[in-house]
Amino acid sequence: MKRLAIPRAKKRLGQNFLIDDYVVAQIIQLIKPQHTDHIIEIGPGTGALTDLLVRTKAAITAIEVDRDLARSLVEHYADIPNFELHNSDIMNFDLEILRERSTAWKIIGNLPYNIATPLIMNLVTLRSLWSEMIFMLQKEVALRLTAKAGARSYGRLSIMAQRQAHISYKFEVSAASFCPQPKVQSAVVRFQPINNTKNPEIDVYFEKIVRLAFATRRKTLTNSLKSLIPSDVIKQAEIDPKSRAEDLTITEYERLALKTLEALGH
Ligand code: SAM
Repeated sequence: MKRLAIPRAKKRLGQNFLIDDYVVAQIIQLIKPQHTDHIIEIGPGTGALTDLLVRTKAAITAIEVDRDLARSLVEHYADIPNFELHNSDIMNFDLEILRERSTAWKIIGNLPYNIATPLIMNLVTLRSLWSEMIFMLQKEVALRLTAKAGARSYGRLSIMAQRQAHISYKFEVSAASFCPQPKVQSAVVRFQPINNTKNPEIDVYFEKIVRLAFATRRKTLTNSLKSLIPSDVIKQAEIDPKSRAEDLTITEYERLALKTLEALGH
C-alpha cells in the first residue's frame, strides 16, 4: 500500500509525523497485533502505524481530529473492512460506547504532546476498558509517568497513573525520526491495567491528599496537609509527619487516605 503524503503540519494539533520505519516497527512489535484484537489508534495522522496495524486484520478504530487527514485516511483505507475512523477530538470522544465491542482494547498512539497528560489521566481511570496501551510521548512526561518515590520527576501524574496501571519506559526516540522535528525528545511507554477494586470513598481522599501535598511540595506533610488532616492522623498512618510529598509511595498515600477517611468519621 502506498503511504499517504506528509501534509503541511498543523502545530496546534501537535502534528509531528513519524518517518522512521525502524521506530514504527519497534512500536508495532510492542503491541503485537493479532487478528482477534480490537485496537484504538489515537491520532493516526498519515497512517505510519495504521498501515501496519490494518495488515494484521485486527479491528482498528482510529480517532483523528484533523478533518483533512480524516478524509484522506477514509479514502486511503476505503477497501479495508477492519478499519473505521471517527473524525473526532479524543478529548470529547465517549470511549464508553466502545465497551460493548470489547473490554480488552489495545490503545496505541503517537500522541499529540499538548494533550498527552490530561488524556492519560482520563484513560487510566477507564482501565476496565483496555488491556494495554502503548504511547509515544514527550520524554519528560514519560519520565514523570514512570518515576518512583524520591525521584526528581515523581509527582501527582506519577502517582495518579501508577495507581491504576503498571507503566514501563520502553525506549527513546530522537527528534530526527519525525517530520517536522519536535523541539523535545520522545519516549515510548507501555501501560498495563492494575485490576484491583478500589474504594470510591478512599479515592476521594487519595486524590485530595496527593493534590494538596504536591501543591506545596517543599513543605512537610504536616504543613501541606494541615487544612485536611491533623498531624496525629499522619502518625497513625505510620508516616513521618516531617516527610515531604515526593517521599511517599503510592501505598503510603493509600494508607493515609484510609486513616483520614476513618478519622473524619465516615
Ligand atoms: N500517528 C501519526 C504518526 O505517528 O505519524 C501522527 C502522530 S502526530 C504526533 C499526532 C496526531 O494526532 C495528528 O494526526 C493530529 O492531527 C492528531 N490529533 C491532535 N489532536 C487530536 C485530538 N484532540 N483528537 C484526535 N486526534 C488528534
